[in-house]
Amino acid sequence: MIPEGFIPTQRVESQLSIISRNVSWILVLMCCVSPSENVFAQSDTRMIKEPMIGVGLASGLMDLTVAAKNSVIKVQKRREILRFESPLFINVRAQSVTIGDYQFSEPIRIRAEEGLMMVDGRSLTGWVEFQPLSRESGGWEVIERIPMEQYLLGVVSKEVSADSFPMASLKAQAIASRTYAYFHVLSRPGKRRHVHSTVRSQVYGGLSDIPEKIRQAVEETRGQVLIHSGKIFESFFHSTCGGATCSGVEAFGLPSLEVFSSVRCEGCTTSKYFRWELEAQESVVRSALLKVEGVDKISLGKIQRIEPVDRASSGHVAYFKVQHGKGSFEVSANSLRFGFPSLKTEGKLRSQAFDVQSRGDKFVFRGRGWGHGVGMCQMGARGYARSGWLEDQILQHFYRGTEIRRLW
Ligand SMILES: [Zn+2]
Repeated sequence: MIPEGFIPTQRVESQLSIISRNVSWILVLMCCVSPSENVFAQSDTRMIKEPMIGVGLASGLMDLTVAAKNSVIKVQKRREILRFESPLFINVRAQSVTIGDYQFSEPIRIRAEEGLMMVDGRSLTGWVEFQPLSRESGGWEVIERIPMEQYLLGVVSKEVSADSFPMASLKAQAIASRTYAYFHVLSRPGKRRHVHSTVRSQVYGGLSDIPEKIRQAVEETRGQVLIHSGKIFESFFHSTCGGATCSGVEAFGLPSLEVFSSVRCEGCTTSKYFRWELEAQESVVRSALLKVEGVDKISLGKIQRIEPVDRASSGHVAYFKVQHGKGSFEVSANSLRFGFPSLKTEGKLRSQAFDVQSRGDKFVFRGRGWGHGVGMCQMGARGYARSGWLEDQILQHFYRGTEIRRLW
């Protein structure tokens, strides 16, 4: 098996797409990521009842504090309901969940009798379920089940800023986030969890302190999703494209589709990350490369040159060739990017659209954009909204061949 992102000899094209798919889940930024097996989901595009969504809050073993203001907390196991005073201390272990004197070894769910319930820093309104994971992995998954529109309040308020984004761009974000979420609901029928609450899907922060503008953007687009050829699709988005979005083929190895084609973007020029530069010592680059599977200290000589291979028209690069004292190899841009230490914000490679120049014992990375570059550019949406575009114009610019349809 070829190690992820590291090809010591000549690349084999048929294996590249596999590698690209394997690394795609780590293309994490402030937005939705990991492409699913199929980017379209068949949907009944007539009006339906608002769907519920299962949001993964945490998984594994953990200790949680759960609090409800002026309310008791209900714990339900099958048809039995127990009532506990707030706060609750919940110990999640491999085979059981302990609450006070009670130990549960089968699924339970909890909810404040009235109002919101604070769990792990988030104010939640829905039932929070504890579902055992498989015996092999051990531990439990904690999932909030919540109506889609309420979930979106907690997503849009985290994904974009109500202060600096005009209403049309907030509405565009609400529609893109709703489409992405509904795609995952349709893609995981019968599953309790549909999405994660982090950048692995889209960021969900619960329901406290939702700005009025965000409420308005979600409410005024209620039930509206994007449709392409009559189907719901996985509507990726990212922070800043840097001038042109990246096609789904180039970023994720997806099939060539109109909806994920590369488009020009004049909207994100005011983004802090429209252009960026990072200077790194050879030792830093070296340590990043040593994190790539298959590269070891003995075989890696002094790093001499790093050159892009197969640069896409958008400027994004899939692979770099690394010339070092003992030979050369190709490494995926993402392996290089995520191998970099991220101790300080300035020390990140923010996208895979960059050039590298050697300067003495240092390397200078000059790049553009932040994120994987596929789909809607959030800062671009902000820019276009500032120049008067409406949400449908913004969305149809970034997701070609789509239309907005209201489903609930
Ligand atoms: Zn842009």
